[in-house]
Amino acid sequence: MSEHKFDTKTVTLGYSPEKWNCYSVVPPIGMSTTFELEDPSTDKGYLYTRTSNPSRSQLETGIALLEDSRYALCYSSGICAIGAVVQMLSPGDHIVSDSIIYGGTYHYFNRIVPRSNITTTYIDTTNPSNVEKALKEHPNTKLVYLESPSNPLTTVCDISKIAQIVKKHEGVILAVDNTFLTPYFQKPLHLGAHVVAYSLTKYMNGHDDVCMGAVCCNDEEIYLKLKSLQNDTGLNPSPFECYLTFRGLKTLAIRMRQHMKNSIEVAKFLETHPKVVKVLHPWLPSHPQHEVAKKQASGHSGMVAFYVKGGLKEVSDLLKKFKLIGMAASLGGVHSVAEIPTVLSHASVPEDMKEQLGITNNLVRLSVGIEDAEDIIEDLNQALSVIVSFS
Ligand SMILES: *Cc1c(COP(=O)(O)O)cnc(C)c1O
Repeated sequence: MSEHKFDTKTVTLGYSPEKWNCYSVVPPIGMSTTFELEDPSTDKGYLYTRTSNPSRSQLETGIALLEDSRYALCYSSGICAIGAVVQMLSPGDHIVSDSIIYGGTYHYFNRIVPRSNITTTYIDTTNPSNVEKALKEHPNTKLVYLESPSNPLTTVCDISKIAQIVKKHEGVILAVDNTFLTPYFQKPLHLGAHVVAYSLTKYMNGHDDVCMGAVCCNDEEIYLKLKSLQNDTGLNPSPFECYLTFRGLKTLAIRMRQHMKNSIEVAKFLETHPKVVKVLHPWLPSHPQHEVAKKQASGHSGMVAFYVKGGLKEVSDLLKKFKLIGMAASLGGVHSVAEIPTVLSHASVPEDMKEQLGITNNLVRLSVGIEDAEDIIEDLNQALSVIVSFS
């Protein structure tokens, strides 16, 4: 199995009809919460669904295969997966995080995590020496948290360079949120990370109908800690959603290729438009970390960030003029959607920090879907042409 190419792996995941009495080619959904025991104190593999469940195991095995990881664990949301990683820490510990991260993660680090007496320092990780400096300044650091490419700006950091720095500090875990790229384009564990976190809600499931998360790792000690935390705190997803995500994975490779092809065409179009000030797409030479992106990933998804001439009014008008592109939160689905980070996904980031990071009111985060690129460009073009032009 594992010597097959990525596309073949996605399609053949879980294809084992001989496992089922009915020779079903698709694994059945295991909704049962409890399982017949071998004897009163011994199970036959499954005991109780919070601990483990056949549909969840199926998905976890599939994700580990695609990620090339020894272990994968699934959770009821991406935030829940990130929360599980943080819960491995103890009161008094410290987190060094990328300053540009998903707004919900930022909110969690700032509002919830401090209640456990764990603090976070935010740094610009595009310069790896900032990680070195932060680890020196905060010797109680136990987690370095990266998001590359970042939400919403697609900022890229050099994961292997940062991994080399982190490795010099014993007991510090390097975690990378790989939601924007999936294992199809980037495998952070190969680059030296200890842990990879996912919002499966986005590209991995890909159809805007499941909220789930995952964590992958190779280290047994980390895995056992996470496994016990998952059971002890009930961070488990539903079997039905595991089934849906497993189904979504079957088309991951083909979807990611189309997202990439479309987003490059869209980003190139936007770069030429007079009402667009700047476009951020890691696969375009104009992206500030284009070289690092090409070094550590094999492509980019459908995520594009762009600045429009004007302010919140112009950008709001633009979103309302779209006919094909949805005006909605979330990303990574087959359908194109756009949002304004300052008022939606990153509304909880303080104003001065947003300004400093470049998350300004004229920024649009566009999740380019797998429609025909010409139709997406046509929609952008008609909407851009009707908004008031500012010079
Ligand atoms: C959406 C998102 C999350 C949170 O995932 P949920 O499934 O919404 O809980 C985390 N990281 C990134 C990069 C995201 O885009």
